[in-house]
Amino acid sequence: MSDSIACPQCTLQNSYPDGTMMVCADCGYEWLAHAPAEASVVVRDSNGNVLAQGDTVVVIKDLKVKGSSIPLKQGTLIRGIRLVEDDAEHIEGNSDKIKGLVLKTCFLRKA
Ligand SMILES: [Zn+2]
Repeated sequence: MSDSIACPQCTLQNSYPDGTMMVCADCGYEWLAHAPAEASVVVRDSNGNVLAQGDTVVVIKDLKVKGSSIPLKQGTLIRGIRLVEDDAEHIEGNSDKIKGLVLKTCFLRKA
C-alpha cells in the first residue's frame, strides 16, 4: 500500500500529504488527511453522492430555517460543510446570509 489516497474530487490516486491535509496533484483538491475513518458514517446527498468535510452543496428546495425569518432558497450554496459525527442525515454549514445551519442531506446536492 502506498500513502496515496484516491482524490474525492477526480478519483485519481496522485495525492500527497501536506501537513494535516491531503493534496491532489492532478486537480489541486485539498482535504483532511484523517477524514472519515472506518467507524464513521457515510453521508450522502439526495443523489446518493458521498459528501465530505469541506464540500460545497446546493439546496434543492426552499427550506424554513429554525430561528430565522429568512427562508433558505433553493439554489443556495453552502460552502465548506461540516459533517455531524455519527449522523448521516445532517450536515452543518453557513450560507451567505445564515450562519450555523444544520441541514438535512436529503435536501442537498453536491455542487
Ligand atoms: Zn483530484
